[in-house]
Amino acid sequence: MAELETFRMLIGGRPTDAASGATFETRNPYTGRPWASVPDCGPADVDAAVAAARSALDGEWGAMTPFARAACLRRLGDLVTEHAEALARTEVADSGKLYREMIGQLTGLGGWYHYFAGIAPTIEGRQIPSPNPDHLVYTRREPVGVVAAITPWNSPLLLMTWKLAPALAAGCTVVVKPSEHSPASTLRFAELIEQAGFPAGTVNVVTTNDRDTAAHLAGHPGVDKVAFTGSTATGRAVARAAAENIAAVTLELGGKSPQVVFPDADLAAAANGIVAGVFAATGQTCMAGSRLIVHADVHDELVRLVVERASTIRLGDPNAADTEMGPVANEPQYEKVLGFFDTARAEGNTIACGGAAESGLGGLFVQPTVVTGVTRESTLFREEVFGPVLAALTFTDEDEAVKLANDTPYGLAGAVWTKDVHRAHRIAGRIRAGSVWINAYRVVAPSVPFGGFGRSGIGRENGVHAVDGYLADKAVWVELSGGTRDPFTLG
Ligand code: NAD
Repeated sequence: MAELETFRMLIGGRPTDAASGATFETRNPYTGRPWASVPDCGPADVDAAVAAARSALDGEWGAMTPFARAACLRRLGDLVTEHAEALARTEVADSGKLYREMIGQLTGLGGWYHYFAGIAPTIEGRQIPSPNPDHLVYTRREPVGVVAAITPWNSPLLLMTWKLAPALAAGCTVVVKPSEHSPASTLRFAELIEQAGFPAGTVNVVTTNDRDTAAHLAGHPGVDKVAFTGSTATGRAVARAAAENIAAVTLELGGKSPQVVFPDADLAAAANGIVAGVFAATGQTCMAGSRLIVHADVHDELVRLVVERASTIRLGDPNAADTEMGPVANEPQYEKVLGFFDTARAEGNTIACGGAAESGLGGLFVQPTVVTGVTRESTLFREEVFGPVLAALTFTDEDEAVKLANDTPYGLAGAVWTKDVHRAHRIAGRIRAGSVWINAYRVVAPSVPFGGFGRSGIGRENGVHAVDGYLADKAVWVELSGGTRDPFTLG
């Protein structure tokens, strides 16, 4: 067997093994073989990481000016771009995502650090009028403190960056914990932290195969804020754990996002956007546009176009330039997706294409799948698959379309496809989701807020206001007269 690549954690500026010496293997979902060995840390290692973050906050990092913080962020952005190739290859080996997608993502990732570097020196307090002329009042915007950043297995570095870049711009220190299914790229990224000039302990990375140890981080009394991306069920547990310490949380959770197609839409463009929304990244994206809500008049034609394209999607080696869809990222997820096919059949839905594993290719492949005849009661209408499965149903008027789009506990994303500019904006306003695309899908940027309504989460990542989630206002009152006042009155 080929030798496993080994990785180490980053705690207090030092490459670190688990105190117990334990490791676990991470498996390449395409080859099916373990390819890397990473530390399997326990609660004591988490304690050490949180302590290192606290000491950097109280020490060198906490004393740095926003301009100096920005310089570190800019250097980190440059290093990420320089190492994009190696980072992308690591993500492909760990999660089976396409190299062609990951190299694009990693090449663009430096832009996030540059964007938030630009924001760091613009963080300003205010001078506030007081009713008492003898008071000068101003605010300081201070970092909330030590942040735990907990990330999922899809796009580990992108989703970590959405937390790390604004947290560092705000002056926080961070303990990152990537998913046990794809921990290696975050450990490779950690090697760049010191090169970028961050003082020891500013950013720490721990890895564990033990969800109780992950929970230990989320509920750690030394953590002031938990920034989490993952499933709604785990998000709930994280919020509960953080509540014990009155720690702040942002939660980026699941979705069941609608693609609403009106009869006047450019159907070829809509079909292309629907394919991008649900089959790119093997459908393993939180914002997957997995519910097709299409006007009855164009249902058959649109489904025909989507099925035609879905049936020709090239499955295969994620590293090959012409592959369009890689494997599902891990065994439990693979079993879960196959289970949804059985459920769809049992509930009387029609499988228009796909609906099975693709066994000839070796890895954990499933076919791009389109399911029609779905109703509001169908499991596929209600539950997040996190795989390449589109569920289609029809509407006949605008109100019904909106009602169907919003008939979900989630509210992460959605799209409206129409050439009618009035209708496009009207519907965008009525869909309850954190991102709505008009005649487009799956576009994100450092400058544009991202997050969800309802069970899709709390708070927003990206955009100028993302730093607000990592800052706390401090009011400073200055007595100007030098006189004494009645000690028994307020104000
Ligand atoms: P998950 O909830 O199983 O795990 C997410 C992270 O939480 C992992 O690092 C895991 O180790 C950790 N974790 C597990 N139990 C924990 C606990 N008790 N306390 C603290 N941490 C714990 O999610 P996943 O399967 O890795 O990712 C898939 C999910 O993520 C999907 O539901 C998807 O929609 C969601 N997601 C959301 C976004 C978004 O931005 N909204 C982006 C990507 C993925």
